[in-house]
Amino acid sequence: MRIDVLTIFPNMVSDYCNESILKRAQQKKLLDLRVHNIRDYATDKHHTTDDKPYGGGPGMLMKVEPIDRALRKVAGRTLPPRTKKKQVILLSPQGQFLTQAKARELAQLDQLILVSGRYEGFDERIRSLVNQQISIGPYVLTGGELGAMVVIDAVTRLLPGVLGDDASSVDETFSHSPDQIEYPQYTRPEVYKGKRVPKELLTGNHADIAAWRKKQYRKHPSSI
Ligand code: SAM
Repeated sequence: MRIDVLTIFPNMVSDYCNESILKRAQQKKLLDLRVHNIRDYATDKHHTTDDKPYGGGPGMLMKVEPIDRALRKVAGRTLPPRTKKKQVILLSPQGQFLTQAKARELAQLDQLILVSGRYEGFDERIRSLVNQQISIGPYVLTGGELGAMVVIDAVTRLLPGVLGDDASSVDETFSHSPDQIEYPQYTRPEVYKGKRVPKELLTGNHADIAAWRKKQYRKHPSSI
C-alpha cells in the first residue's frame, strides 16, 4: 500500500515510521511511505503555509493554495480523486472517529493521502479537496501528525505479511465488535507473587483453551 503524508513537520512522521514494524513493512515493500513538506509547495519566498483568519480571531489558519498544489502533485489532476482505491483524508477533530472497522476499510485501498494540519485549523475550502475527514478521538491536538501516524500504524499492521503472524490481528480487542476486549493472556512464570496462570491454559488441549478464551471476552469499559 502507498501512503503519502502532507505536513509542515515531515521529520516527525518519518522518524516514527522508521522504527520497528513500520520500518520492516517498508523494507519488505508492503508499505510505500512518502512524506511531503507542504512548505515546498508554497510559492512566496518565505514558504508561507499560514495566514490570519478573515473576520479576526485568535491564531492562524493553514492556507489553501500550498495544500491544493501539493495534492495536485501527489494525488493527481482530479481532486478529490474519483477512484475508490485512493482516498485523500484530512486529519481533523471535526472528522469521523477512527475505529478498527475504519482501519480495516482503509487497509483495503491502494493509496491513502493524509493531510495534517497545524495552527488554529484549515481554511474551510481545504475540506472540499479531500474525500473524508478523520479524527483520532474527541480531543484537540496541536497538529495532525500524531493523527496521521495513528492512521498509518493502525492500517499498516492489518496489511497481510506485516505482522510476524497475520492471525495476531484477527482475534484481538475490537476485532469482533467495537465494544469487546481481548481475552486475558499470560506468559512465564506460571506463578507470580501468588497469582497463578489459569489452569485451563496449562492443559495443552486446544479445544479447551479456545472454549476458555471465548468465555473470557469482556465489554470495553467505554462501551455504552
Ligand atoms: N480549531 C480547530 C477546531 O476546533 O476544529 C482545531 C485545530 S488543531 C489545534 C490543529 C490541527 O491538529 C488540526 O487542523 C488537525 O489537523 C489536528 N488535530 C487536532 N485534533 C485532532 C484530532 N482529534 N484528530 C485528528 N487531527 C487532529
